[in-house]
Amino acid sequence: MKETFVTLEKLKEIDKTYSTPYHLYYEKGIRENARNLRKAFSWNNGFKEFFAVKATPNPTILKILHEEGCGLDCSSYTELLLAERVGVTGGEIMFSSNATPEKDFLKASELGATINLDDYTHVSFLNRISGIPEKICCRFNPGGTFTISNEIMDNPGDAKYGMTKDQMIKAFRELMALGAKEFGIHAFLASNTISNEYYPELARVLFELAVEIAEKTGANITFINLSGGVGIPYKPEQPANDIFVIGEGVRKQFERIMVPAGMGNVSIYTELGRFMLGPYGCLVAKAIHEKHIYKEYIGLDASACDLMRPAMYGAYHHITVMGKENDPENYRYDITGSLCENNDKFAIDRWLPKIDIGDFIVIHDTGAHGYAMGYNYNGKLRSKELLLRENGEVKLIRRAETPEDYFATMIFD
Ligand SMILES: *Cc1c(COP(=O)(O)O)cnc(C)c1O
Repeated sequence: MKETFVTLEKLKEIDKTYSTPYHLYYEKGIRENARNLRKAFSWNNGFKEFFAVKATPNPTILKILHEEGCGLDCSSYTELLLAERVGVTGGEIMFSSNATPEKDFLKASELGATINLDDYTHVSFLNRISGIPEKICCRFNPGGTFTISNEIMDNPGDAKYGMTKDQMIKAFRELMALGAKEFGIHAFLASNTISNEYYPELARVLFELAVEIAEKTGANITFINLSGGVGIPYKPEQPANDIFVIGEGVRKQFERIMVPAGMGNVSIYTELGRFMLGPYGCLVAKAIHEKHIYKEYIGLDASACDLMRPAMYGAYHHITVMGKENDPENYRYDITGSLCENNDKFAIDRWLPKIDIGDFIVIHDTGAHGYAMGYNYNGKLRSKELLLRENGEVKLIRRAETPEDYFATMIFD
């Protein structure tokens, strides 16, 4: 069974002020998890997590993480503006983007963000736009498949990101000639990994590369950015990653590869999104219709516009029918939204307790890549976001969209 971080009593209380649907975030869980991450990497002096803004671009959430010592990883001009507006600038921003527009590089430079170059050609592109900063990062793509103990985790060879090793070396040499003094290496080779081995194996690849590049180019490498990809258990039977085991695994590789190479002062950076927020958010909706045709359907007041992952990736999100946690799961439902799209289903053929109209339905693990991927298809308006604070209060941290928001970009004449 997967527990919810909110009780039915609390949902009924919230209902008096805020109607469903909404994304609800859990401050206590967010803070504790961020502290555990820091503790797990405390062996590394310069460790820093740069939260991937794209996962949960909400100012209140970003401020909480900043209070817990996190910087921000931005991927676009607008995300850079958001970072600036929550008071995060300079070296507390990583800018990891690809096919980057000029305007974005310019803003990143203006804020003093640490820029992560996705391609070799971006060296001259950036140089022309803003010049090369003293501290810079390059993104690596080893090609082929990324495997851990013979299991294929992902296919970097098919991914559009990063540079080959030869390009990395060429880029480092040119960047040095253009005035760069401090270098970082970044790679993101597998997404949503449920494995304590992912980061250590990625670290091994990047540490070995760092030693080789430092030898060949003489570049002063000061950080290794392990990026995102540490996953969360969406399914109840999946084990959670243990961040302390992961931190220890990275440390072992660090001591084996970096320390003997005289690179023991190199900082470890991360850009986690899903791991930081995923489990600490849920989508709260109500059952508003039931329908019996060839299958049994429950219609919710939320739709794929509030949570796209099931429709887009066929992703599993656990569902709790609040107040019926101990009832037998002897009804098989498709749980749907109201879009004119048959893939607008939060669950297909899911065994659940009998659902009645008005039941609170909690869709788990929507804290990252949930609200963030929302859209306006069918004229659906994006929901509000609420924060369950440590003291039990509930705070509105983003209002729901109104029709005026929907019409704001339209031209009627
Ligand atoms: C998406 C992304 C992340 C965060 O990924 P998660 O899977 O949410 O951890 C980090 N870095 C970059 C460059 C990304 O594109």
